[in-house]
Amino acid sequence: MKIELLEMTSDPEKIIYTSARQCYSNKDATEIFIDTQKMKKEKIEKFMRDIVNSGHESVLEHVKFTFAISGVSRALTHQLVRHRIASYSQQSQRYVNMEDFNYIIPPSIKKDKILFEIYTNILNEIKNSYKRLIERFRELGLEGELANQDARYILPNATETKIVVTMNCRELLHFFKVRCCTRAQWEIRELAYKMLQICKEKLPSIFDKSGAKCEFLGYCPEGEKFSCGRYPIKK
Ligand SMILES: Cc1cc2nc3c(=O)[nH]c(=O)nc-3n(C[C@H](O)[C@H](O)[C@H](O)COP(=O)(O)OP(=O)(O)OC[C@H]3O[C@@H](n4cnc5c(N)ncnc54)[C@H](O)[C@@H]3O)c2cc1C
Repeated sequence: MKIELLEMTSDPEKIIYTSARQCYSNKDATEIFIDTQKMKKEKIEKFMRDIVNSGHESVLEHVKFTFAISGVSRALTHQLVRHRIASYSQQSQRYVNMEDFNYIIPPSIKKDKILFEIYTNILNEIKNSYKRLIERFRELGLEGELANQDARYILPNATETKIVVTMNCRELLHFFKVRCCTRAQWEIRELAYKMLQICKEKLPSIFDKSGAKCEFLGYCPEGEKFSCGRYPIKK
């Protein structure tokens, strides 16, 4: 799994500060923004922390992060795109030929010889069948996207994919709350932790205390059956 930060809003704290102050000021946002140049870093950072703690999070929507994600499965991206307050651009299985597709092997399967054999055998079989479908389509005069778009129906959830994701800070805080939780599936949890690490490095005043929802709540809302035990269960 490879996660890279492609781009993020420049001057994120000043943008958030300016947006929040605009609500209470006669000045134009441009003037408030210029004023922030003279402000102490510590004062702006405290303001950011107060916003996160107070839950008045709409001003955090003005700052966004764009990530390039690769080496993940379609099983992961299917879960990822359920997060609606985000923008996505994913490698197409229609425009890109998948004859040499890579696949993700879950650690539980990797560590057992028998599971590994069953898993890799079927994936190699799918790979061969995909190639045979493409060949047959070619014989019938169909190539490129016309062949790929139907051959892809046999590709598994394990297929490796690439996706570009843009999320604003408010959505990122929410994403981390649900996907850093141990209840989340291992692959998307790994992704969430890697994204969180980047966010913490780039914007600690917002993401310092970010993580699974129990980190904020101080208890686990998941109930006895699903709780990892790190925090007490809500009675
Ligand atoms: C452990 C776990 C197990 C899961 N299991 C399943 C499963 O078995 N089946 C399944 O289908 N899904 C499952 N999901 C996915 C889950 O139901 C959500 O679709 C996914 O986590 C996206 O979260 P979201 O809807 O809160 O947030 P986002 O889409 O990221 O939206 C963020 C927030 O915006 C608000 N919002 C967004 N859209 C609307 C709207 N239309 N109306 C009102 N408010 C809105 C909500 O407050 C929402 O929390 C699972 C998720 C987790 C973490």
